[in-house]
Parts: sequence; structure tokens; C-alpha cells
Amino acid sequence: MTTSDRHKNEHVLSPTHEEAITSLMSDIYPLSYRQLPLHLYQITSKFRDESRPRFGLLRCKEFLMKDLYTFDCSEAAASVTYNKIGSAYDRIFQRIGIPYLKVAGDSGNIGGSLSHEYHYQAAIGEDTLLLCNGCDFSTNATLVSSSDDAFCTRCGGQLNKTLAIEVGHTFLLGTKYSAPLKACYQNDKGKPELLHMGCYGLGVSRIMAAAVEVLSQGKCIRWPWILAPFKICIITPKKGSKEAGALSWVDHLAHVVNSIPGFQNDVIIDDRDSFTIGQRVMEAKKTGYPLVIVVGKGACASIPLFELIDTENGDSQMLSQTLLVNFLKQKLLEFKFNV
Ligand SMILES: [Zn+2]
Repeated sequence: MTTSDRHKNEHVLSPTHEEAITSLMSDIYPLSYRQLPLHLYQITSKFRDESRPRFGLLRCKEFLMKDLYTFDCSEAAASVTYNKIGSAYDRIFQRIGIPYLKVAGDSGNIGGSLSHEYHYQAAIGEDTLLLCNGCDFSTNATLVSSSDDAFCTRCGGQLNKTLAIEVGHTFLLGTKYSAPLKACYQNDKGKPELLHMGCYGLGVSRIMAAAVEVLSQGKCIRWPWILAPFKICIITPKKGSKEAGALSWVDHLAHVVNSIPGFQNDVIIDDRDSFTIGQRVMEAKKTGYPLVIVVGKGACASIPLFELIDTENGDSQMLSQTLLVNFLKQKLLEFKFNV
């Protein structure tokens, strides 16, 4: 996408930065073979002149993307890097926890010799994937001619179509960019040799939008535990109510929860005390905070109790401060063991 400034200078708003980073590498020659592999990444706004923006953050003209570019001294070394980054992406998607599909990718405009795509299955997805029911063969349908999209060439099994949202993509580029832009490193004999590249993208804003799309129930957003902007919402008593005296517990509880390693900066306090507790619990469920703590009537008792609501399954229990802290620590442990 191009645009011009007040001096009529033309600028490019780029969807991805292979050329820019490769010419940067060309400029900084001589880079020694001892400095390889080199991994350069950024998390920045990217731009695309999208003809039909829709589905909120899923398809838009400006989006957040993490893009990584890797530089190696040989094809073999670049393959090792490609597999390493692929495993790191697998771990990222496993930690997010939404079932994902990794398929042979369409190199499209970027090019290169090998590519993989990461997808979430969704009815509004704009990619069609083909999954074999007999083996682990899976591919973007654009890689297969329509006359060959019924049966797997590897095992003869049936190929099933599914719609999906692309959330990540990896490319082994070889020297596609380094050759024309003359991006070289200095080998052990002091001679220039072409860099072997890979590029890797994660759609940061798109992962968030796709997570909401895949997990949400009715009017309630559901976040993967690790992506929830806040894991816990503490709701204060209503102003002027019988339980208003419990207010002094709120800051104390927030401090206690914030002190549990793993919950720092994960607490938000809904102190809009002109609303009833019920109204705010409803809103917290819609917003998708995984856990809600209500400081209400129970907190006024001689042994103060707090209501803990798990918005995922709707479970609610009254807990003392000690049991509440134990529950939260347990929750973190479960998450740790599940990934
Ligand atoms: Zn197969």
C-alpha cells in the first residue's frame, strides 16, 4: 500500500518486510559467519490495502504482526533454524490452548521452497484446508488442483475440506531475497557468500480476534487463559448497600492476589459501585475475565468469605482468603501441567 506525504514523497506501508530487512543485511556487510545464525524480529503494525475489510480484526487494513527473519550460512543450517522456529510456534499455539492445524502452506507472494501455515478451524474462515482421514497429510487447498482434491496422494485416504482462519505462517526462503539484494556474510576464508533466509509471521491481533471467534459462547467472550487481558475481576460492594462495609477488603485482596507469582498485573477491580453486584458479574462474564471474585455480603461475616466465580463453567463457591489463595495457586499449577 503506498501513500504520499505533504511533500508528495511516496511512502510504502508494508504488509511484511523481507525486502527491507534483506537490504539492511546487505548494507551491514561484512557480517562474519561466526555471527550466524542471526534472528531479527519485530512486533509492529502492518498494512494491507484490503479490498473487503470485514469480521472486525480478522480482515482489516492495519494489523499487528510479529515478523521474524532468520539468516544462516547454508541451506542445511537454514533448515535446522526453520525446524527450530516451527517447534517454537508449536509451543506457542499449544500454550494458547485452542486446537490448531498445521498444514503445508501456500508460498504465495512471499515465495521460497517450503512453508507451513497455522490455522484455527472456524466457519467464517477464508482458507480451505484439506485433511486426510487416513494419514497426517494436510494442506491448504490452493496447493492442490481441484481435480485432485478428493483423495490423498500419499495414502489414498479421503481428503476432508474444512474452513479455517490463518494465524501463523513460516517460510523457508533460501536465497530468493538475498540473491537479488546481494545480502552476504563473510565465510571462514574471508569471501562473501549468500545468506540463506527464513521468514516467520504470527498475526497477533488476528490470533486475538480468532480466539474470540472460536471460543465465545453466545454473547459472552471467552479468552484462552494465557491471553485474557486480566485473569481476575474483583467486584466491589454496591454503594450504600448493607455490605458496603466490606469495601476495605478489596484493596487487601487485590494486593494478596497480585503477590501470587503468576498473577502479577492480572487483577482488575470493577468499582463502578452505582451498579449492583449482579449487573457487574453479568458484564464480567460477557467481557470474559476467566475468574470473578465478589466482595459482598459474605465478606461482612465474622469469618469473611468471598464468592469465586469460574466464568468458563459458571461454578461459584464461597471461600475464605486462605482457600481462595490456594485455589488460585492450584489453577496456575493446572495450567502449567496442561501445556
Ligand atoms: Zn493420507
